[in-house]
Amino acid sequence: MSFKVTHYARHSKARVGELTTPHGVIQTPVFMPVGTQGTVKGIWPQQLHNMGAGIILANTYHLWLRPGVDWLKEWGGLHSLMNWNGAILTDSGGFQVFSLSDLNRVDEDGVTFKSHLDGSRQRLTPETVIDAQLAFGSDIMMPLDICTPYPATPDRMAQDLKVTHQWEKRAYEYWRPQANGSQLFAIVQGGTNPALREESVAALTQMDWSGYAIGGVSVGEPRELIESIIAHTAPLLPDTKPRYVMGLGLPQNLTHAISCGVDMFDCVLPTRLARHGQFFCGPNGDRLGIRRAMYQSDSMPLDPDCKCETCRQFSRAYLRHLMMSGEMLGSMAMSIHNCHFLIEWVARIRRQIIAESPSFT
Ligand SMILES: [Zn+2]
Repeated sequence: MSFKVTHYARHSKARVGELTTPHGVIQTPVFMPVGTQGTVKGIWPQQLHNMGAGIILANTYHLWLRPGVDWLKEWGGLHSLMNWNGAILTDSGGFQVFSLSDLNRVDEDGVTFKSHLDGSRQRLTPETVIDAQLAFGSDIMMPLDICTPYPATPDRMAQDLKVTHQWEKRAYEYWRPQANGSQLFAIVQGGTNPALREESVAALTQMDWSGYAIGGVSVGEPRELIESIIAHTAPLLPDTKPRYVMGLGLPQNLTHAISCGVDMFDCVLPTRLARHGQFFCGPNGDRLGIRRAMYQSDSMPLDPDCKCETCRQFSRAYLRHLMMSGEMLGSMAMSIHNCHFLIEWVARIRRQIIAESPSFT
């Protein structure tokens, strides 16, 4: 077994566990920084390691288009290229195909789309997406799926789900004989319809996946709807397997999902917000803008309670100056703080569950 739950919270569905991968044991709940192009923007691998990141995410769609699967395979995969010894989870590319490329056409066998980089025609199938992730050397892979947009009609949700299930079954059967220590998670879809979510769980649990992701949330729907989909779906998933909500990155959303029994999260938000001068701060996970005039002569670190490299070295006044001047170090330092903040946010909840602390039960 690659996953075991070691503690359960007393008054919620939250749990603490350990996920074993070929590149280390991941303590869950866990927040995974996103390295879209094979780099978490602005952060060195050693800095990720120092802030406690044991696993990062990379995007199949982007790496597929550039530098390309064959090139990555020739160079021995992502770990050695990036000089990253931790675990890597890669997504299936499905989300980006439907959100980034202009034209995409789904048929039963796969999806054809136009590259957003050079307009070239590209095609993903459940099998080629597994081949790509095997070439990357991913520890945890995801199968090709259709991420139903929000809002969507009931017919669209049902049709997307049907195709997604066919693709996932094919991905599973193709991956299993060549798994070689890698893991493949199922992706539960079904849009905002609770009955379709139940149907998706029932169909996917027929196979012995390494874990289960709840996909298609945080795609533009209001917070209450995100919360109700997660609260409804997470408890339906097998207790013995890790549960992952894709694309969730606001501290309040993470806390809620953990209380529903979710173990894993990823989001580009901490680095993207950082580049726009926004930082997380305080026990409520507030989001603040460093460019505000009030920080011009503020000698405090971004968050007085944060122990990250940035907060140990730089004042808000200096960071504001860097961001106002468009200096690279500003974005890098802010990115380190925001990633550290979310990793620590989740790690603190983990400690509270283990300690049976009344602040998270
Ligand atoms: Zn900090």
